[in-house]
Parts: sequence; structure tokens; C-alpha cells
Amino acid sequence: MKKFDPIESLARMRHEFGEHGGVNMSIETSTTFTVLDADTMPQIFHGQRGPDEGGCYLYGRHFNPTVYVLGRQLAALEGAEAGYCTASGMSAIAATILQLCNSGDRVVASGTVYGGTFALLKEFLPAKTGIQTTFVDVTDLAAVETALADGAKVLYAETMSNPTLRVADIPRLADLAHSAGAKLVVDNTFTPLIVSPIQLGADIVVHSLTKFINGASDAIAGTVVGPMEFIQSLMDLHMGSLMLLGPTMDPRIAYEISMRIPHLGLRVSEHSRRTMLFAERLAERGVPVVYPGLESHTDHSVLERIRNDGYGHGGILCIDMGTTERASQLMEILQNKDRFGYMAVSLGFFDTLMSCSAASTSSELSEEEQRAAGISPGLLRLSIGFTGSVEQRWSQLCDALDEMG
Ligand code: PLP
Repeated sequence: MKKFDPIESLARMRHEFGEHGGVNMSIETSTTFTVLDADTMPQIFHGQRGPDEGGCYLYGRHFNPTVYVLGRQLAALEGAEAGYCTASGMSAIAATILQLCNSGDRVVASGTVYGGTFALLKEFLPAKTGIQTTFVDVTDLAAVETALADGAKVLYAETMSNPTLRVADIPRLADLAHSAGAKLVVDNTFTPLIVSPIQLGADIVVHSLTKFINGASDAIAGTVVGPMEFIQSLMDLHMGSLMLLGPTMDPRIAYEISMRIPHLGLRVSEHSRRTMLFAERLAERGVPVVYPGLESHTDHSVLERIRNDGYGHGGILCIDMGTTERASQLMEILQNKDRFGYMAVSLGFFDTLMSCSAASTSSELSEEEQRAAGISPGLLRLSIGFTGSVEQRWSQLCDALDEMG
């Protein structure tokens, strides 16, 4: 069977022309929509007559046509039935968990996830909703099976974990989740196009669009893709987490991100190409580099089995500098002397971003939790950009490493 190709899937989507036939879609900024016949108002509110059934859109916090187009593009890229967008990656994650779980339900989650997700699951949800989470190492399938045996509504993992770059074996996790009656929810933020979790058995995929998908570090945004019934349920007037909590994406932001989707493939391929090159050269130099594209990486074979052809192994690598002080020193030289990149959290930007995870995006984890998650104090995460020439960037990196001794 031919492997799934996200870009071909996107190209099969019906093109959205502008109101006057423009090659780009129009932006629907209205927060409310005119009903021509008063009798249809109750039917629209009861969900019987939407825009496809002779009615119209309801209200800007409910589905908006421009935001919906971006949702359809992202669903096409993931090979999902439907998708919708949110004001941030965190709101996409929170809305998904809240939609799938009721008070007292349980989540089994990877212990190595983005710090905000960890805090949401470990602290916020139990305190506010009674939704409890059991954290496991999702690369230990026996441990996942045991944790699921106690009953869980959701198994939650990141395709490539932040920041340790461990790779989730999505087909096996999907089997375990489904055998236990749970849904597999995957955060695919680090690996858009590279891995297509829904094609591998996941039920729902979430993304922080803030990262690679937008690619310019100028918008906070998120998405949820999955079955149409699930996406519709998020907007239910009585029980929909998006409709009632309201983390609405602005249609202008949806338009801007939508304009960056056509070159996502080019960008992801170039991020991956450069990251692989640097990882190989760093390994040759004897630098302790972590990158799943390298054969030496623990999960290299898993990634080889689940990734799509043509988009590489991702745009993030880590260097273990041993101590926080050495990691900070290297970042400072790279930024202030060699101009290799910027000391900043986040990832997926066109320039290189560098951060020491233990002290920043994973600081929600205690020292013990960081140790259990494999996050050492000197772990430096680099999201490799594609500005400048490869050789120019490599010589900057070598210069900084030489200076470190
Ligand atoms: N998921 C991952 C893997 C992330 O790295 C982040 C943010 O860094 C998020 C989700 C949250 O996304 P946002 O900042 O768009 O809310």
C-alpha cells in the first residue's frame, strides 16, 4: 500500500476562492451572521440548519468560515476527517481532554511532555475537575498496558517528546489504548508532515500551530483534528468545551497561518535536512548530541517505521552540556558572539532558537520528575533554523564549541 503523503492529501482539498474570485480566500471577520428568514433561527440554534443545510453560521465563537478553512487544511495534512482551530496549543489540549473526560475520569499520559501540558494534567485538572493523570514512560509498552488496566478515558503522548526527543510508537500505543477502551490523543507539534498519527491509529491529534506550522514566531495558535463527530462535539451549545470555554481563534490569524501552509513542506524538509547534517557532524566531533535521525538514537528504528517519506527526522536536536552553567555559556557565545541563533523558548522558527529545557519549558517538573523524564540539567534544545548558509552556520557552531574547550 502506498504510504500516506500529507502534501498530496492537502492538494486534493477543494480550493477556497475569495469572495470575488480571488485566488486567496476572503477573511470573514463578522462575529454574527444575518438570518434571512426568522423561522430558521431556532433550527440554526438547534444545529439542524448550518451553512450546508440552507441555514447560516451562528456566531463567531461557534464555527467561523475562515477558521474552518484552516481547520480543513490541517485535517487534510493529518489525513483526518475534520479539524478546527483554537487560540493556542494549550487550549487545543485542554479542550480535548475536557471533552473526552468527565469529573473523576483518568488519563494515562507520557511523563515527558511539554511543561504546560504536564502542569495541566498533574495540577490544574485534578484540582479543578477531579480528572486524574497517571504518568508513565510511553516507550515502555508494558508499563502503559499496566497503567491502562486500571481504566482510563485517554492515553496521551507527544509523537516526539519535548525536550528529550523520545519517539512514541503510535501504532502500538493505539492498540493498547483501544484494547483498554481509551482514546489515543497525540500532540504532533514537533513532527508536522513527518509523522501522521491518525494514519497510524491515533484518534485525535493536537498541535501548537505557534511552532513549525506557522513558522514565524508571530502568532499563538492551536488545532484539534479527528473524527467529524468529535470536532462537532467541541462546539455543542450545552457541552462543547470550545463553545463554552471560548478559546476562539481570530479569523485574521487563521488567514495568515493558512497562507503559510503551502510552503510548510519546504520548510519542514529544510529544517530536517540541516538538523540531520549538524547532528551527524556534531556526533563526528564527539559532542553528546541527541537526534532521532541518528542511528545511535534509542528510538531511531521506531521513527524509521512510522515516519512519512520526504520530510526527514525533524528540526530539533539536543546537546547535553552536562551542567546548566556550561549550557548557558554555550548559548551565550552562540548568540552574542557568533550570531548562530537566539536564546529563546519555543521552536519551529526560521532562525535557530536555543533553550535549556530544565530551567525553562520543563521547569514545571520537579528535579525528580525531570530526572525520571530524562531531562538532565545541561540539556540544551536547539530548534534549527534555515537562514544563512549551512557552512556559515556550521562554522559559527564550531567556533563556539572550540571556545568552550
Ligand atoms: N505542545 C508542545 C509540544 C509545545 O512545545 C507547546 C509549547 O511550547 C505547546 C503544546 C503549547 O502550545 P502554545 O504555546 O501554542 O499554547
